[in-house]
Amino acid sequence: MHVIVGNTLNHSASIVERDKQYIWHPYSSVNNDNPLYAVASASGVRIKLEDGRELIDGMSSWWSTLHGYNHPELNQAVIEQTQKMAHVMFGGLTHEPAVSLSEKLVQLSPEGLSKVFLCDSGSVAVEVAMKMAIQFWLSQGNKRKNKMLSLRSGYHGDTFAAMSVCDPVTGMHHMFSEVLREQVFTESPQCKFNDPWQETYIQDFQQKISDNRQDLAAVILEPIVQGTGGMKFYSPEFLRRVRQLCDQHNVLLIADEIATGFGRTGKLFACEHAQISPDIMCLGKTLTGGYMTLAATLCTEQIAEGICHGDAGVFMHGPTFMGNPLACAVANKSIELLLKNNWQQQVSRIEQQLIQELAPAASFSHVKDVRVLGGIGVIELHNPVDLRLIQPRLVDKGIWLRPFGSRVYTMPPYIIDQTDLSQLTQATCEVVEGLETV
Ligand SMILES: *Cc1c(COP(=O)(O)O)cnc(C)c1O
Repeated sequence: MHVIVGNTLNHSASIVERDKQYIWHPYSSVNNDNPLYAVASASGVRIKLEDGRELIDGMSSWWSTLHGYNHPELNQAVIEQTQKMAHVMFGGLTHEPAVSLSEKLVQLSPEGLSKVFLCDSGSVAVEVAMKMAIQFWLSQGNKRKNKMLSLRSGYHGDTFAAMSVCDPVTGMHHMFSEVLREQVFTESPQCKFNDPWQETYIQDFQQKISDNRQDLAAVILEPIVQGTGGMKFYSPEFLRRVRQLCDQHNVLLIADEIATGFGRTGKLFACEHAQISPDIMCLGKTLTGGYMTLAATLCTEQIAEGICHGDAGVFMHGPTFMGNPLACAVANKSIELLLKNNWQQQVSRIEQQLIQELAPAASFSHVKDVRVLGGIGVIELHNPVDLRLIQPRLVDKGIWLRPFGSRVYTMPPYIIDQTDLSQLTQATCEVVEGLETV
């Protein structure tokens, strides 16, 4: 038994020191000395540290805080809902926030998606999507179609089924390959967003889907933008062809819009770039405007009916905190704000400014590529960056970014103004330029 002795809880030690005694962080070691900063508060696009410094947020807290921090209307939505009920179970009970949210999601999402499963996090939304696809085929008496076809450089989350469809080499999970379900992989799309189309771009995909069609329940991919697996933007034509090939080979299509949903790529959903609808779609990250964890898996009538006419008669999933009213209430408000604020204008303004202001980085000799799509700006270097070096330099310049691998990228909150964005891009370019001499 672990006895907590009074003096082991040293309240005079700094928050960071106390943190390091007990806490895991994302993808962290408990004994490393990676930079760690204590946040006192955050408002608008600014994160205020305990030591008084203020940072302009270029990450939207992993792409989620679209409207910035401490937003009066989002705060109010939480307060009002708290006074009604913070939570109530979703088995046998329902409530207005969940119903309103689901109506909105069906209205806004690509045509055909008409049923909503609310869940707790992005990874769970992916688990649910994969389970839906497999249960759909089982319900048709098909026990063979239970594999996924996924793209290299893809990222779909950290739970076990989600890990199995992440890039098997660069996807951070290769050490678990022995315990993961073996899925089918095809090359990462070779066509950049604006590349003129060539048939060779789809050849590998075509081969894999055709060779494995009898075993494939679904294709799962991030439409247009491969996020955590490499921040790559690919041609809408690729996605169109994937949709056609899925239909042709009787394989479902799961679009993981957890990173791309709600305007980030310049369309409300990235699938719209290709004017296609998936059979199943995952939403997360941005859903509550970054206020709390909530995700959703949407599917078509056909999938829902297929599942419910099977032997089980029901879809086999139901998390404890499903449809949490607080999260649904704030998601409703976030979507309202998004539409009211004219997100399209916000994102296109950010896009124009990022194109212009990140361009100088393309001439640095250690930079491989600079690319921008919607509210996403990426500087890709030839070599991986050392987070321990770059993180303090970014903080010293008053900006918050979290580079990974060889990518220094930004996805700022949509409400960022021109001056703050300029400061962000200028500081980013300066820090990246300075890396040359390291
Ligand atoms: C972040 C992310 C996930 C996982 O979401 P969590 O909320 O971190 O579990 C899944 N898919 C994509 C595309 C993501 O960007």
